[in-house]
Amino acid sequence: MRTYPDLFGGETPVAEPVSVLSYASVKIRLHYRRAEGREKCGNCAHRVTHRFGKNYHKCQLLGDTRSSATDIRLSHVCDEHSYGERERP
Ligand code: SF4
Repeated sequence: MRTYPDLFGGETPVAEPVSVLSYASVKIRLHYRRAEGREKCGNCAHRVTHRFGKNYHKCQLLGDTRSSATDIRLSHVCDEHSYGERERP
């Protein structure tokens, strides 16, 4: 991991850029697809919603950035779906 010196003489790690291609490859690896059953991103414990004028749905496993590349659809699902604490339908 690369670092750069900060104002206090310490070393601060530099965030590595993540390409849009890597998000796409994670979606492929987790078989992110249109849901056919009751299990959907909409009722998954890994979904988070950010509200900035409108709702932006993200997945904690796929990645959560401000880029539209990490947006998920509530009507989709992947192999890592989990109800967690959310209510089952
Ligand atoms: S179903 Fe998969 S892609 Fe959707 S929120 Fe859950 S873990 Fe993320």
